[in-house]
Amino acid sequence: MKLQSTTGTISKTSGFTTPEAPREEDLYKCVHCGFCLNACPTYLATGLESESPRGRLAMMKAVHEGRLEIGPAVIPSWELCLQCRACEDACPSNVPYGSLMESVRLEIKTVGQRPRHARFARRVGFGILLQRPRLLRAFATSIKLYQRSGMRRVVRAIGILRLLPGDQVVLEAYLPELRTKFFAASNQTATPPASERKAKVALLAGCVMPLMHGPTMEAAMRVLRRNGIEVIVPAGQACCGALNVHAGERETAREMARRNIDSFLELDIDAVITASGGCGTQMKDYGELLAGDPDYAEKAERLAGMTRDIHEYLVEVGFKPPQGFLDMTVTYQDACHLAHTQKITDQPRQLLNSIPGLKLVELPESSVCCGAGGTYALTSPEMSGYLRDRKVENVESTGAMVVASGNPGCVLQMSKGLEARGSSTQVKYVIDLLDEAYSREK
Ligand code: SF4
Ligand code: SF4
Repeated sequence: MKLQSTTGTISKTSGFTTPEAPREEDLYKCVHCGFCLNACPTYLATGLESESPRGRLAMMKAVHEGRLEIGPAVIPSWELCLQCRACEDACPSNVPYGSLMESVRLEIKTVGQRPRHARFARRVGFGILLQRPRLLRAFATSIKLYQRSGMRRVVRAIGILRLLPGDQVVLEAYLPELRTKFFAASNQTATPPASERKAKVALLAGCVMPLMHGPTMEAAMRVLRRNGIEVIVPAGQACCGALNVHAGERETAREMARRNIDSFLELDIDAVITASGGCGTQMKDYGELLAGDPDYAEKAERLAGMTRDIHEYLVEVGFKPPQGFLDMTVTYQDACHLAHTQKITDQPRQLLNSIPGLKLVELPESSVCCGAGGTYALTSPEMSGYLRDRKVENVESTGAMVVASGNPGCVLQMSKGLEARGSSTQVKYVIDLLDEAYSREK
C-alpha cells in the first residue's frame, strides 16, 4: 500500500514521514554513473562515497525502502551537503538533487535529532529574526554596538564564550564587522530621466546583504538607474526564505514567499531584481514551494517568472558599457546559486569584460563551492574552513587584485579567508565594480 503525499508517494515502510518526503520517482533516477563525484566539494575533500551525491542518494533510497532509519547513520552525511547543486549540473539523469536534499532537511527537522540549544537557535533565527526585517535590523544594530564599543574584545579576553555551545562560539567568530550603513526596504526609488526610461523594476532587499553590504544595494540601484531602469524597493517585502528552505524550515519560508508575492505583485513593474544569487534561486523556486497552496500557487509561478538576477537582467536589457577606466586585474568566483541553479555564468563576465582597463583572469575551480552555503559555516565549520582555504589559495594563484562575486555568502567567506592570510586581494561584487566604472565617467 502507498500513502499519497503532496509531492509523490511514500511507501508504508518508508522511513520518510512528512508529506514533502523525497519523491520516489526522483530517488530512482540515479544510474550510478559517478559523473557527479568530481563536481562535489565534499567528495573532493574526503574522497568518500558517503560524502558524495551518489552516496547520499543511496542513503535516501535506503531510508525510503525502510532499510535505514533517519539517525546517526545518515544525518551527518546529509548535513555535510552544502546544497550547492554542482551535482545537478553534472548529472546526465537529471536527478533533482537540490529539491531532494531540501525534503531531507525537513525530515531531519521533523525527527528532531538536533540538540536542544540548536533547535532553540533555529527557532529564534528562522522563525523570528528572518521573519521580521525590523527586528533583524535591531538585532544587527546591537551586534554593531557590541563590536564597536570594545565589548567584543573584553568578552573574548575573559573567555566567557567558552560557556556557550560550540556553534554559537563559531557564530560569534564568524560574524563580520558590521561597518557600513544598513540598507532598508523603505519604498525608496531611483528614477532615470524620462527620455532614458526603459523599464520599471522592484528590488529585493533580502536579509543579510542589506546589513553586511548596504553600499552594494545602493550601487545596484545606481547601476539600474544608469541603464534607464526605474527602481522601487517596496517596504512590505520579506526575506526570500532561502536560508529557511535550506534548513528544512519550509513553513516559515512559505510565509515569507507569500509576503513577497503580495508585496511585489501589487506593483506595476516589469521584473523583480535580486542582487544576491541565493535569493534569485529561491524566488525562481517559489512555484515549487507554494505548489500545494491553492491561493498562491499561480501567483508564485507568476512572481518566479518575473524574477531576474541583476547580472542577467542588465545583459537582457542591453546594458550601457561603462566609459570609466578601472586599471585592475580581477578574477571571478561563480556563486553556486548563480552558476549551478540559475545557469548564470556568462553575464557577470560580460559585465566585467565591458569595463575599460579591467583585465579578467579565470579562477581555477571557479564553480567549486567556497564553503559558505547559507549557515553552513556554522553547522559544518571544519569542511567550510577547508573549502574556504582551497578557494582563497586558488584566488591568490591568479595574482588578481580583486575577486568578484554575486552572492553575499561568497563575499563574506572569501573576505574571511583572505583576511586570515593577510592577503591584500579585495573581495567585491561585480555590481560594485560596474558602479565604480560608471562613477568614473567624465
Ligand atoms: S549539493 Fe553540492 S555538496 Fe551536496 S552532494 Fe551535490 S555537489 Fe555535493
Ligand atoms: S551523476 Fe546523477 S545519475 Fe550519475 S551517479 Fe551522480 S546522481 Fe547518479
